Formats: sequence, structure tokens, C-alpha cells
Amino acid sequence: MILIFANHGFHYEIERLFRSFFPPLKIEMSFDKADAKGEYCLTERIERVNGWTLSAELKTERECYFASEDIPAGESEKEQERVLSVLLFKVLREYTGKSMPWGILTGVRPVKLLANMQDSYAEGKLMVSARKLALARKINRVQRPLIASMPERSYSLYISVPFCPTRCSYCSFVSHSVDKAAGRMDEYVDRLVDELKYTADMAEKLRLRLDTIYVGGGTPTTLSAEQLKKVFAALDRFDRSHVREFTVEAGRPDTITREKLEVIKAAGADRISVNPQTMRDSVLKAIGRQHTSQQTEDAYDLAREVGFRSINMDLIAGLPEDDLEGFRYSLQRVCALAPDNITVHSLSLKRAAALFGEAEIGSNSDVAAMIDYTHKLLSEEGYAPYYLYRQKNTVDNQENTGYALTGTESLYNMYIMEEIQTILAVGAGASTKLVDTSTGRIERICNHKYPYEYLDRFNEIIEKKQAVFGFFS
Ligand code: SF4
Repeated sequence: MILIFANHGFHYEIERLFRSFFPPLKIEMSFDKADAKGEYCLTERIERVNGWTLSAELKTERECYFASEDIPAGESEKEQERVLSVLLFKVLREYTGKSMPWGILTGVRPVKLLANMQDSYAEGKLMVSARKLALARKINRVQRPLIASMPERSYSLYISVPFCPTRCSYCSFVSHSVDKAAGRMDEYVDRLVDELKYTADMAEKLRLRLDTIYVGGGTPTTLSAEQLKKVFAALDRFDRSHVREFTVEAGRPDTITREKLEVIKAAGADRISVNPQTMRDSVLKAIGRQHTSQQTEDAYDLAREVGFRSINMDLIAGLPEDDLEGFRYSLQRVCALAPDNITVHSLSLKRAAALFGEAEIGSNSDVAAMIDYTHKLLSEEGYAPYYLYRQKNTVDNQENTGYALTGTESLYNMYIMEEIQTILAVGAGASTKLVDTSTGRIERICNHKYPYEYLDRFNEIIEKKQAVFGFFS
């Protein structure tokens, strides 16, 4: 299918909307109406005496779908973009039969966008379904007091450990399997410690107040207990007297041992993630994970025994070889463990994932039903949604939602999603986000993506980070 933009500049939004209907289809694009031959989707703006005619047309060998609207002169570019998006949305919805509950919204953070919007505008002009709108509103209500509790000049510290025991087939993250990286893991830990010390000194000079700590990955527990100890020892350089939350994403159950959990606990972490993704062993095998659901339960029990007060578990809707029944089973089994937080992701197929291009994954229409079931079961079990984000190329164009028992919400997850707090990030692939809370201005400083680049060009990172001083002065 070729997507054609004729006489308008709304390429970015139109392309994103188009792609959201067809992940992971590879599409061609053109800016020439003459390419409207064979199978195509044409989006067009024609200038008239008193305004424009906007239209969307999708043509295949056997069918043709068309929608158009005249709009008056003087209408803003933003409004023209919205109208053309709605026309395309209607045409694609009719062609595919998909409901697409987020309407024409293609952004990552719909909660923030919808917060101050009238229901009638969101539903009537942006085509957002009443159900998703209610979900966004509910999350906003939970978030408001937590956002208000964020201290002035506070920041979160993110520590990246981009290693995993093996690579899951659906993963697009720049993560290195331990086998490949084994030779340089110690060196990685040493540089991480250097960057942590630099960051601690910088925060002190700038009088920034450390609020939350998050160790993420990859799978941080691919590090040995000794390596973890070394990383945590560097945290002593920070003023931790105001820290409200310290999370370690243990992630894959096959990397979790009592010794590592005790090291994490002794370092002061109070939250941990044990991520099953699914509780069906056949699906675990299909996605390239080398652990069983029993190991997930054992790791969870161990984490409770060691004394973690707050445990999160992640599941993914739409995994290969899973179905609605299997997903329901996984969610019920996770609920039976009674974790404090449950995060349900919709499978996102990105280019880097081994699965990209496999059509049977992208057409898994059970995902919407899985997500609906999640909302229903988790609210019955006493969990409330508290953060939400969307990704590109998500199966069925669904979202990722974090649920929590009241009072156990992760501040870090919420602050990062809503982009309201500075994050000083260390490690390969980590992205420092500087937020000016009075103006909303945001600047980013990205560390090198790959561990070997991080190690070989470490000094460049430290140089780049000088910009933090400029931002806060
Ligand atoms: S555990 Fe997560 S980061 Fe690691 S390979 Fe699997 S999906 Fe990717």
C-alpha cells in the first residue's frame, strides 16, 4: 500500500495515524498524486476560493473508500490537520473494521493531553472512545495528589543496566545478552560507578534534591551480587535523606537469587519488579525466555520473604502463541499472588524485534479483549490504573497501563510518563531529562546507546553532561 500526501504538510501525523492501523506493515510514501495507481491511500488538500477541500481516499483492487470536508479560509493549520486526520481515520476504520479506541490521537501521553479537554471535543473531534476517555480521566484523578506531592527542585536518578540473560523475540530494546557482554561487565560496572559519583557531585552543587531512584534495564539482576553491591555503594555519595522511593527492576525470574535480593534490600530499595510477561510456559518458550511460570512464582515468594514491601509484575497482551484464554489465565494467576502493582503492556512490534514483519502477530485482534478484561478484573481486585502510555506499532493500537493498590503507586513511573520531574540518568542508553517545572521546558542528554560505545567514549558523556549546569543556572 502506498500512502500519498498531496498538497499538504501534515505528513508526520497522517503517517503515524496510518501506521497505527497496520502494524507492522511496511508502507511506501509519496508526495505525488500521480502515484495514485493500483492500491493506494491518498490524502489531499485542494485550495478553493473560500477555503480548502480536504479528502482521504483508499483504493484497492475491489474497493474504494472516500471521505471529504470543506473548511473555510482562515482555519488554522492545526485544525486542518485534525480534520484531515479524522477523514483518514474514518476511511481506514471502514476499510479495516478496526475500532481504534484512541481515535486520531497518536501521541505517547494521552492522559496529559486529555486532562483539560471537554469530553465532547475528545469524543466528537478526536474520535476517542468513551471507555478510553473514562480511563484517562480516572488516571488523572489518581495522579493529581501524587503530582502535587512532588517536591521543588527534586529529581529522580535512573541507573541503566542494559543486559539480559537472552534476548526475548519481541524486544526492540538495545539490550545485550550476558553471553556477548560477559567480558566487559566488570568494566561497565566501574564506569557506572564513575558516572554515579559525577552525578552525585553535580546534584550537590546544583542543590537538587534526590526524590526517587530507579534501577532499570534490560535486567539489572543479570549483574552478580558483587557487581550490584559495587553499584549500590556508589549511591552513598548522594544525599538520600529525602528519597521517597527506590526501585530495582529485577525483571526476569531466572536472574533472581536470594543473595541478590538481600543485596538490593540492604541497599535500601523498597520496590522490586518480578516480570513474568505471561504465566503460560508454552508462550514463554515461544518468546525465547528460559524460565517457567513456576520460577516466576518462586522468585515472587522469595522477594516477599526477603521483605520487599512493594512488588510489581508485568504482563504483555498479544504475545505470540498466546490467546484470550491464555492471557486471562496469566492475569488471574498473577492476581492470586497479590502483587502491589500490575503493569499490562500491549505488544509493540518495532523494527528491531525478531518478530517484526510477522503478519500473524500484528493481526492478533484478541488484544483489545485482553485489555478490556484487564480493566475489569483488576478493578474487581482493588487495583486502580495510575499511569498509561502508548507506543508505536502496538497490536490493536492499545496502551500500556500501570495499576496499583491504593498507596503503592510508583512515583517514578508516573513522573517519567508525565514528564514533570528531572531525571538524571546514568549508564548506556540512559537519557537524562531536564525539566523546568515553571515553564515546562524540557531538554534531553542521551548517553551512548550501546555498552561498548559507553565504555569506549565515556569521557564524551561526562562532557555532554556539563549542559546540566547550564540548564539549572
Ligand atoms: S527482558 Fe526485557 S529488555 Fe531483556 S530482552 Fe526481554 S524484553 Fe528485552
